[in-house]
Amino acid sequence: MTPQRRILLGTLASLAFVSAACATGAEDFDLLIENGRVVDGTGSPGIYADVGITDDSIVAIGDLASRTARKTIDAEGLIVSPGFIDIHAHPERGFREAGASANLNYLIQGVTTVLTGNDGGGTFRVAETKTNWEALGIGTNAAHLVGFGAVREEVLGVEARAPTPDELARMRSLVRQAMQEGAWGMSSGLEYVPGRYASTEEIIEVARVVGEFGGIYSSHQRNEFDGTMEATRETIRIAEEAGVRGNSTHLKIARKNNWGAMQELIELINAARARGVDVGADLYPYHFASGGPILPIASNDGWAPFHLPGDMEPFAQLRQALSDRSLPDSERRALRSRYVDELARALSDEAKREQIRRSVLVGTPDRPSSVALAGWDSYLVVVAEKNADLVGRILSDIAAEQNRDPFDVAADLVIDEPDLYVACGVMSEADMGLAMGQDWVMLSSDGDARPVVNESDAPVISHPRSFGSQARVLARYVKERQVLTLEEAIRRMTSLPARFLRMEDRGLLASGYKADIAVFDPDNTRDIATHANARQYSTGTHFVVVNGKLAIEEGQYTGLLNGELLTPDRGAPN
Ligand SMILES: [Zn+2]
Repeated sequence: MTPQRRILLGTLASLAFVSAACATGAEDFDLLIENGRVVDGTGSPGIYADVGITDDSIVAIGDLASRTARKTIDAEGLIVSPGFIDIHAHPERGFREAGASANLNYLIQGVTTVLTGNDGGGTFRVAETKTNWEALGIGTNAAHLVGFGAVREEVLGVEARAPTPDELARMRSLVRQAMQEGAWGMSSGLEYVPGRYASTEEIIEVARVVGEFGGIYSSHQRNEFDGTMEATRETIRIAEEAGVRGNSTHLKIARKNNWGAMQELIELINAARARGVDVGADLYPYHFASGGPILPIASNDGWAPFHLPGDMEPFAQLRQALSDRSLPDSERRALRSRYVDELARALSDEAKREQIRRSVLVGTPDRPSSVALAGWDSYLVVVAEKNADLVGRILSDIAAEQNRDPFDVAADLVIDEPDLYVACGVMSEADMGLAMGQDWVMLSSDGDARPVVNESDAPVISHPRSFGSQARVLARYVKERQVLTLEEAIRRMTSLPARFLRMEDRGLLASGYKADIAVFDPDNTRDIATHANARQYSTGTHFVVVNGKLAIEEGQYTGLLNGELLTPDRGAPN
């Protein structure tokens, strides 16, 4: 060993190396990544170094040219970084399906750990979930948050009332169970049923249990439109009073009339941080939120604007018929086109049109109006065939230009092109860049695990974030717009979320850390997915290592399912 190398290798690495060498026989390492530029996740400038891996851990970083390995990767011209940790994702459904559980749309971007259970939906049955996911096999690691909404629903159903003291105790005990079984904290989705029915005080009481375990509280806040400031104040208060680290998740201020308010929001969070409240945020790198067809026929629900009165006929009946999953495609098409024809008729009847207008603009207690919440200036047309000239435009702007009421414009569009796809939540990219510039903002996706895509698969209209978030950070916000340096972007996707979670053995490239590693070409990393064709893999990643094993090799998926549902290594609650 040269003196130089002796300096580079820490004591821990040397010890680990000795024991590993015994285990694997003649070779020094199981895997050696040579000649890459190592960007270690701390935010420090990259250095040229080799990375030695044995079993599931990094055991050496430095000049390892004279060392041997069972397998060697040449990373010349490439960046070697910690695998990305996505603090807000929704792969739960995919993790239950063979074919999707590989989470390839994330792996191929260098993501090695995704947070699950977000937006209040995470199960409290963490041990059972771990067993099930690992039995099927998952491609990336996961770290789970118990959902406040899931717990509330278990105890109170979806009732819009406060819990009794007994019910509150039961909610707390379910959260305790989840934390004991390995949750990293609790999520909430306060814009959704049933989270929206909970008072701040109720959430604080439940979150205190999370605080006992040193967990996080990550909130899809009560409002992401006009009430974002107030909603963020609530997150700060919960963090402060419950003694948890708080996260304003997928931070945004949607709706055109709110653009420019990000500075004020950042100041609010910075002020809380300055007085010692551990509160942060994550965001996904798109200035439009998820959406759907302007006329949500199948569900008459969700974020799309044009919700009909729930009991209006023949629509209720037609939806019922459409809910039959065994329906042949031809019949489905026929039913849908009848739905649109009937709607055209209803809209030309004065009384019915008023009823529909009311449903769209006001909603009902069980189906809140997304227009009332978001405003017409939140709807961005993202996919349209017949009305291609409207793509990239906001519904309220289209109406203003035509000097017409936005409802009337939407009603015409619904009939003309019911599949016209709108993002429900349009943000200012300048606001987003401002948030991205804060050193406490983590970068996430809010996407899900999708089945492996075959070349013959038809394009799917959806938000591109499941396939493109991490690559887009590197391509658009590092390379193109230079909002972040490469080192800083990597830090926000690795050590920052790991430290926020108190995940002690991931998020950095250092001896003793778990070998979750991404090797990519920063000049060719690119998000390809678009709304119109959302299932397209990002490019630029050459190798991905998950728990010491190669999941992506020369840009191709190896078929490996080496992920685990990670659980915190903590002693007894304090
Ligand atoms: Zn959310």
